[in-house]
Amino acid sequence: MGKGRAAGASGGFALVAAAGALLSPSAASAWQVSDPIHHNCHERISAAALDRVKYVQPPPVLSGDDAALRDGLQFDARGYDANIYAMSFIIGTRWPDSQGEPSFDFYKLSNVHNAPGDQGAHCLREETDIGAETGDTHALATCRAQITTLYWQALATLDPTTGAVDPDERTLQPEYLPFLGKTQIPVSGFYFFAGRAVHAVQDSFTHTYRRMDSADGGSDAGHAITSVFNWVSQVRGDLVEAVNGHGHEQILDDCEDDNPSNADRLGWATDATSELLAALTTPGAAADRQARLDAFFANWMTYEAGCSIENEYCNNPVQAWLRASGKSMNYDSGGCTLAGPMRAGLGALAIAAAGLAWVMSRRRRRRVVASLAFTIVGLGASAARADDEHRGWRAEARASLSVQNPAYAFGGAGAYAWRRFEVGGFAELNPWYDANREMMSLGSTNFGVLAHYLHSIRPDVRLRVGLGLGLSVLNQDLPGTSAGNVGIYANVRLLGIVWYFTDRTALTIDAFDLALPTPQLRGWPVMYAQHRISVGLSF
Ligand SMILES: [Zn+2]
Repeated sequence: MGKGRAAGASGGFALVAAAGALLSPSAASAWQVSDPIHHNCHERISAAALDRVKYVQPPPVLSGDDAALRDGLQFDARGYDANIYAMSFIIGTRWPDSQGEPSFDFYKLSNVHNAPGDQGAHCLREETDIGAETGDTHALATCRAQITTLYWQALATLDPTTGAVDPDERTLQPEYLPFLGKTQIPVSGFYFFAGRAVHAVQDSFTHTYRRMDSADGGSDAGHAITSVFNWVSQVRGDLVEAVNGHGHEQILDDCEDDNPSNADRLGWATDATSELLAALTTPGAAADRQARLDAFFANWMTYEAGCSIENEYCNNPVQAWLRASGKSMNYDSGGCTLAGPMRAGLGALAIAAAGLAWVMSRRRRRRVVASLAFTIVGLGASAARADDEHRGWRAEARASLSVQNPAYAFGGAGAYAWRRFEVGGFAELNPWYDANREMMSLGSTNFGVLAHYLHSIRPDVRLRVGLGLGLSVLNQDLPGTSAGNVGIYANVRLLGIVWYFTDRTALTIDAFDLALPTPQLRGWPVMYAQHRISVGLSF
């Protein structure tokens, strides 16, 4: 279920997509999680494991609230079983990569992924994991400790007499929801923490080198870990492979890539995920549970010493392929030697340099300043003459666009104008767009009264500042709020321009509007704040 399509519904999205193309390498850490430019790798591994292992008990029928949550998540959950257990497991599996932030927000995710101290959640080295064997050993111990903690968090409801757990006990966890932001959602504690535990397991198949052949001619290929990768030092740009370990390899994260180790690694990740999930869902006393976890670690998460960059990680075929293919983020052998974030940084630098060159071109700058001064003087000279024009009733049709918190709006207004002021009413339809989910929502319908202060700077040009106040009606169900819910609406117009290009008809441009539809006021308000640019025609 790749999601490579580009939704072209809004200009805002085009901008977001452009930023995505520039920055995409920095957003992927480990098997990809679903967002508009990444595949749902972690999710499909967990779904396959759930399918194999089955549920700890038959899941209850999806309730109304859980159904609303399933529809309102930042990823499309329709491909996974429609029950709260599966939802919680998939949300938990994705969680270490987003931690309640939008999965398509590069600024916030850079904090999530580059955080020191959390690398073990992805089976990666910390910066302090130095040296081939000592660094690997310590990083792997941290990863196993992380899995152990989450394993027992999942088992928090373990009943010592029956040896069973209660997957219906809910826990509130932060998750980003489209149009609502970071929200505490009630998930099954058992399946949520199980999901987070298997995330680390799955990452250990993209963030380590494993023995790709069988040591004893048997079936143990893919089991022993021979080296643990490093993301933080690579991002900092000071990675020395002999000291910090092998740098993270983006190409290994894409489960739809056709690199030669992909099918094996994906298959083993699914086997290991199933084994840990089975250890969790099989009834038993605490001691049995710990024994099953130990057996899992012995089977899938043990370290085999002696492999480092010195011997090409014991001549690991994945290492050989990375060197030869030119797809490595670490070697010069071809393609890209720069890590993604550095490449993006250089791109931004190039744009800044071009802008600077333009500003510094003195001739051009003089010309711009001169024409600007001329315009201002010209406008000022004719400012006094417009007093008696354009009074009385007028109507206006407008279209608006917001880029951050993407949205558009269509609406109309009617107003009565005096010399310096006008008052009137407005109504608009304001659909919202979520870039994480690539989903348009019907958003809100906003209406109310408006007031403008008008300032004529030429007979045919007026500036306007003003305020709109009214009501905002939610047009679509959101988790926790129903369509039809009514709240307040406010619009602050910092500066607009009205240009009468005929006697009665004017073009209006409001480039600095702040629109605040808040259709839900109870509890934590639902406010979808928009910085808008609007263009209209006034008659
Ligand atoms: Zn991860």
